Amino acid sequence: MISSTQVDSLYSRVEKCKEEDRKREELLDELVAKLQATTEELKKTKLDLEHEISARRGLQEQNNELSSKLTAKPYVLVIVDADGYYFNGLNEGEEGGKKAADMLAKAVKEHIKSLGNDFDQCDIVVETYANTEGLGKTLVDNSQVRSINEWRHFWSGFVCRQRMFAHVDVGGGKEHADQRIRERVEFHSRIWQCKRVFLGCCHDAGYATFLGQFVSTGKITLLKDGVCHPKLEALGLPTVEFRGLFTGPVASGVSGASKGGKRFQNPFAWQMRLLPVRIDNKSGLRYDRPVTVTIEDVKRIEKMRLCHWFYLTGACKGCDRVHQVEQRLTTDEFDSLWTIARRGECYNSRKKKVCHDPLCIYGHKP
Ligand SMILES: [Zn+2]
Ligand SMILES: [Zn+2]
Repeated sequence: MISSTQVDSLYSRVEKCKEEDRKREELLDELVAKLQATTEELKKTKLDLEHEISARRGLQEQNNELSSKLTAKPYVLVIVDADGYYFNGLNEGEEGGKKAADMLAKAVKEHIKSLGNDFDQCDIVVETYANTEGLGKTLVDNSQVRSINEWRHFWSGFVCRQRMFAHVDVGGGKEHADQRIRERVEFHSRIWQCKRVFLGCCHDAGYATFLGQFVSTGKITLLKDGVCHPKLEALGLPTVEFRGLFTGPVASGVSGASKGGKRFQNPFAWQMRLLPVRIDNKSGLRYDRPVTVTIEDVKRIEKMRLCHWFYLTGACKGCDRVHQVEQRLTTDEFDSLWTIARRGECYNSRKKKVCHDPLCIYGHKP
């Protein structure tokens, strides 16, 4: 049997053990709490450090950008829609191309001198866009160049002459040159080094809406070739013209644009069908031979947006309607197109004068 003294002693030892356990527990709690606090602190410090690093990286990038702004060379860009702008010398092959390139470089250099110190060190970058093959064929047909090869040589002379001149053949799609040019303008106008874009597109009102967004940037100057479409003029962008660089206006749909010769010729137009000119016995004035057409035909032809001059008389000096030699008209289609053209009364007829132009396609009232 165990004595009561022994029990007391055991009890006191157990109590001591319990006390030590409590202390140990307390110590463990304290340690865990400290560990948690330290971990939190470490986390915070790590976050701070990350912020610090990313801030430094940002500053470094800004610094790089600024120093590249200070060191990279500024430039001006000349973009020409060469489907509508014809360089002088385009019928002189490679030599003509070189001459045109030199002339353009010289003209731009002189012009930007007048724009201030910002432009002193500018490189001159030139990009021309055209459906080279298609336009070449038209030029050959119109005897403006002797062969497609001569035309190609013009462009190789043009791009080889100046280091930063390029010609882009956009192929046969209708809107290609247009689309490419828009993309280029958008791209370059955002670049700090690009001080100005000189854009040769004044023949085409289609650029007007697109260019509206750049009016306030001060980065775009229209490069004119004689005339400027009223819609583009209305934007109020600055304009410049380099005399003698282009052959003169062949612009489409612009009044006064037609003095540059016959741009489109259609050897298959049946112009004899317009003849003979008929004169009214009583009034002595010209009148139009009656034609029989159907409303359906007239409506259909109207939708095709055919050029009246090109399909009726065989030549157009430039307009934005359709000119396709492959498109041959039947007599019914010819008469329908003529009917549409006659809706506009001839200038002479309106003045009650006799119209003597055998190929006048407008309406005449006796
Ligand atoms: Zn036309
Ligand atoms: Zn007339």
